[in-house]
Amino acid sequence: MGDPGEMTNPKLKTKLWEYGNRRRTDGPYVDNLEVDALVVGGGFGGVFCFYSLRKAGLKTVIYEAGTDLGGTWRWNCYPGAMVDSEVPEYQLSIEETWKTYNWPSNYPTYKELRDYFDHCDNVLDIKSNTAFESVVTGAQFDAEEGRWHVKTADGRTAKAKYLVIAAGFAAKRYVPNWPGIDKFKGILHHSSFWPDEEIDVKNKKCAIIGTGASGVQITQAWGPVAGELKVFQRTPNLTVPMRLRPLTAEEQWAGKKWYKELFHLRESCFGGFLYTFSEKNTFEDSPEERERFFEKLWSDGGFRYWLGNYKDYLFDPKANRAVYDFWQKKQCERLKDQRDRDILTPVEPPHPWGVKRPCLEYRYLEQFNRPNVDVVNIKNNPIAEFNETGIKLQDGTQYDFDIICIATGFDVVTGGMTAMGLQNINGKTLEDEWKQAAVTYLGTTVPGYPNMFHLYGPQGPTRELFPLCEPKLYIQQTPPVMITIYIPSITVPYPKSDCHVVLSNGPTSVEIQGRWITDAIKHMENKGIKYINPTDSASKEWKKKINDLSDKSLFPTTKST
Ligand code: NAP
Repeated sequence: MGDPGEMTNPKLKTKLWEYGNRRRTDGPYVDNLEVDALVVGGGFGGVFCFYSLRKAGLKTVIYEAGTDLGGTWRWNCYPGAMVDSEVPEYQLSIEETWKTYNWPSNYPTYKELRDYFDHCDNVLDIKSNTAFESVVTGAQFDAEEGRWHVKTADGRTAKAKYLVIAAGFAAKRYVPNWPGIDKFKGILHHSSFWPDEEIDVKNKKCAIIGTGASGVQITQAWGPVAGELKVFQRTPNLTVPMRLRPLTAEEQWAGKKWYKELFHLRESCFGGFLYTFSEKNTFEDSPEERERFFEKLWSDGGFRYWLGNYKDYLFDPKANRAVYDFWQKKQCERLKDQRDRDILTPVEPPHPWGVKRPCLEYRYLEQFNRPNVDVVNIKNNPIAEFNETGIKLQDGTQYDFDIICIATGFDVVTGGMTAMGLQNINGKTLEDEWKQAAVTYLGTTVPGYPNMFHLYGPQGPTRELFPLCEPKLYIQQTPPVMITIYIPSITVPYPKSDCHVVLSNGPTSVEIQGRWITDAIKHMENKGIKYINPTDSASKEWKKKINDLSDKSLFPTTKST
């Protein structure tokens, strides 16, 4: 992967390197760039690491594949795209950025998030040190020289002592291998490579395949305007109401005196938000108390019903069922048709509640009450092929469309890193090494890839938070020395490697990891250390620890994104 010679789908761009383009030849775009630290990715993680490393005195540059800052919010411009993490906790805690900025609503749209990143650039000066449309397609560490050698899709090279991968957990798009996809004559896009120009769905026959967060949000946007909309669902999304509301400037100015405490608080809550699990177990409360507690979480909205619920429900199947039953009762009331209820809000849970990320919505289920919107259950009757006019299911049913949106998500978590052409010190690619499973130390470093750090990625808080521990980083010296850096810690279960649940608020996680990375680099600079490389045994220990924690929970029961 990451090889520009790789076959592409002529109908559909799915590879990042297809977007590589040499915009300029000066500044961060120069050939043979030499820097102390190269950050790959210009979203929340990249901006935070760039800011911290530059502050620590390192010459730092960002390589960003997109056309501007914003990471996922540059790519995800599909209809209705918005964040389902709440403001104020969904932003950087850097004072210059929040003290002069107010948001229009508690769940900003992708356009509002782009404005926010422009504001961050205005106050922090990031873009002048960022090379856009710069897609990394190869990188290897030269141990003799103590430098990473990095290549981009347009043929440039760069050298850096430190390589920070902040490319996000969702940098590689997933399109199932449906036969005939290139035969379809209508408009076809993946939700995450959506074009900037608007696609008019009025009087058009439209399809959405997939009901993850993207499929849910596109359904909300298209339902009221499309001529006809069919939503192809494999697994119902156990969504919860977000309680979207406008925010006034006055309330935000008044709240700012608490922001420092809020940013501190979010790091001690399970999901990096401003609430955490109840101290009670589910059946410690009477049925009436439980109902009142569920009602309160439900009406307060957001992820509270997921990450502020009873502390045992992700471990105890009986407790989990109580949470599901309340969810089912609440959601089925919103649907008029019994067939829709059976498909979208079944009485029997498709999986334990909360082990897949329940997306937030504000009028999702109501779309299916419209005469032009329909759900197609493909659980036991999958898509067999695409053809010139549309989609055929396994049982032969044909659906014709003008526009198809593929909202099947990403090769989450490892995809961003394995598609980058990273090679270990012995020349083996990360893609080969991680075919079976990812191996990391602390979800931040990888054995064999010295001085490389990753954030919001495999075995990190992207989908699991750090267990309570004092991590040990092994420094490659003779004799080996060991330093201990404390990561603010939250005890939680870890899902198994095939079970990815994006459990934690992005900005919170990347700041915890970004501070750790900056501290490690500062330590190395102060001590004159050439490189660090986590040992295999430390990485195995880490993997065992997260699997042991995961096995205590209900997470491994379900295959997730
Ligand atoms: P996703 O969560 O991975 O959902 C993919 C959807 O496609 C699922 O419904 C999946 O069904 C379905 N699917 C996969 N393969 C299929 C096939 N062969 N046939 C039919 N359906 C298939 O993808 P996403 O919605 O793009 O979201 C990706 C990540 O980004 C998630 O973590 C999400 O939470 C995050 N995201 C966040 C926001 C936000 O607002 N913060 C917005 C968008 C996305 P199954 O469930 O049966 O596998």
